[in-house]
Amino acid sequence: MSNLLVTGGAGFIGANFVHYWLQTYPDDKVIVLDALTYAGNRANLEPVAGNPNFLFCHGDICDTSLVETLLRLHQVDTLVHFAAESHVDRSISGPDAFIETNIIGTHSLLKAAKKVWLDEGLQPSHRFHHVSTDEVYGTLGPDDPAFSETTPYAPNSPYSASKAASDHLVRAYHHTYGLNVTTSNCSNNYGPYHFPEKLIPLVITNILLDKPLPVYGDGQQIRDWLYVEDHARGIELVIKKGRLGESYNIGGNNEWANINIVRLICNLMNQAFADDPALSKRYPEAYNAIAGQAEALIQYVEDRKGHDRRYAIAPEKSNEELGYRPLESFNSGIMKTIDWYLSNDAWWRAILDGSYRRQSDLDGIPA
Ligand code: NAD
Repeated sequence: MSNLLVTGGAGFIGANFVHYWLQTYPDDKVIVLDALTYAGNRANLEPVAGNPNFLFCHGDICDTSLVETLLRLHQVDTLVHFAAESHVDRSISGPDAFIETNIIGTHSLLKAAKKVWLDEGLQPSHRFHHVSTDEVYGTLGPDDPAFSETTPYAPNSPYSASKAASDHLVRAYHHTYGLNVTTSNCSNNYGPYHFPEKLIPLVITNILLDKPLPVYGDGQQIRDWLYVEDHARGIELVIKKGRLGESYNIGGNNEWANINIVRLICNLMNQAFADDPALSKRYPEAYNAIAGQAEALIQYVEDRKGHDRRYAIAPEKSNEELGYRPLESFNSGIMKTIDWYLSNDAWWRAILDGSYRRQSDLDGIPA
């Protein structure tokens, strides 16, 4: 049995990870520490809210003494660190929060873990797992080999630079102090509870509201997409089997140009409306999808500054050392995701009208 502290567990991937972990390890205890920024949402944790092995703490990872208290109080042996500012566009318009949370926040967690686990000797068999991104490696040309764990870091956005800095700090705490760390660098995730500012949920919800579907530049930027539960399984394998001090790339082996993803979702949504007349009654404003023409909503917009052209993950290390491979096919994962957004109307409408923030504030339970 383990006691986990999960930072950022009210966000997209953290919440999916918590659901997955408590289903897979029902006897483990999971404590979520989350500051409930705009990206954090208590509703993401509703599926585990009544579980006696689940606790929520509303707080900031930069509050080192709070983190120390949580580690001691709950005898935490495994810290899984998701909390971050995660949206590249926001890092371009306002980088400060990215430096604060992603670099200083990660350092605060490392200091707390060192103090409680090493200096006070409370958990000899502890594990600090850091969740990071493939964006730290920079950008690839069309024929370049995919990113491996030995690809030099070359981050291009304030977001990826702040994540790169946090990866180096985690590595340094292992080499300098002997903290038991692992890192995973993952490709783009998609699935339930994805905040509707990100490409896939933005396209789904904008089709339902008959709003434009913005596509950056020529739409030919390539990303490797992974279903979020497959990411949770990858992290589980790194925590259970990964070698200390090592990093592991986790990818979907699934490269798509942005414009092709947008067209795919348009086609699937047109088909969903054609197959189920009840959908037109639920979403009467979705004129273009009802007419089978969702792609008419596509609008090319000015490209993102410094936009990376292509990311791709070489899966050999996690495959050979951990036996990792993604289970969800892209077709079924995208269909599951569309179905989830169609069935969870209240969740995304509360984000769009801002009411999820008020609910989050009321529900916040102090440590
Ligand atoms: P997200 O933006 O959906 O969630 C981030 C969570 O962290 C939110 O709940 C937010 O409230 C919380 N948070 C932010 N600042 C905090 C602070 N100072 N203290 C405590 N909590 C704080 O992000 P996500 O998409 O779920 O990403 C999670 C992690 O995975 C991040 O570290 C990100 O870099 C990494 N990652 C994401 C992707 C992806 O495709 N989304 C891919 C690879 C890696």
